[in-house]
Amino acid sequence: MSFPFYRLPIDIQSLILGYLSIFELQYISFMIPRDLLRNTLNQCYHITDYKTIDGYINNFNKCCFLCSKNLVEIFNMIICKNCSLDLGRDRVYYPEICQKCSKIKQKRGIVTFAECTICKDYSTYLGISFFS
Ligand SMILES: [Zn+2]
Ligand SMILES: [Zn+2]
Repeated sequence: MSFPFYRLPIDIQSLILGYLSIFELQYISFMIPRDLLRNTLNQCYHITDYKTIDGYINNFNKCCFLCSKNLVEIFNMIICKNCSLDLGRDRVYYPEICQKCSKIKQKRGIVTFAECTICKDYSTYLGISFFS
C-alpha cells in the first residue's frame, strides 16, 4: 500500500516538497497538482504574487513565463534582480520567456540590455536554447 500523500493537508504536503531543491521540484512538477505546486512555491520560496508563481510553473513545464506557450528553439532568460528567484548559496532561478513576449530576437549566447518585460526595470536578456 502506498502512503496516502495527497490526503495530507496541503500545507503539510508543501512542507514535505519543500525539502526538495527547486530543480528537483521542477523535475517532478508534471506529477504534482497545480494547486499544490502553487502552494509550495508560496510557502517554501516565499513568492507571494500568484502571477509570478504561475510564471515559474510555466517555466518548469518548459513554457513561456508570460504567455505559457511552449518554449521552442531560442528563447530569452531575463537576468533581472526583481524577477529572479534567489535560492541562496549563489543559486538563482531566472524567468524564461519566448522571443515574442520579450520582443527581443537574438541568437543563443547573445546578451541584450533592455527593460524587463515583467517588471519594467532595467535588466539583461540572454538568448538561450535547451541545448545550451
Ligand atoms: Zn511568451
Ligand atoms: Zn524584472
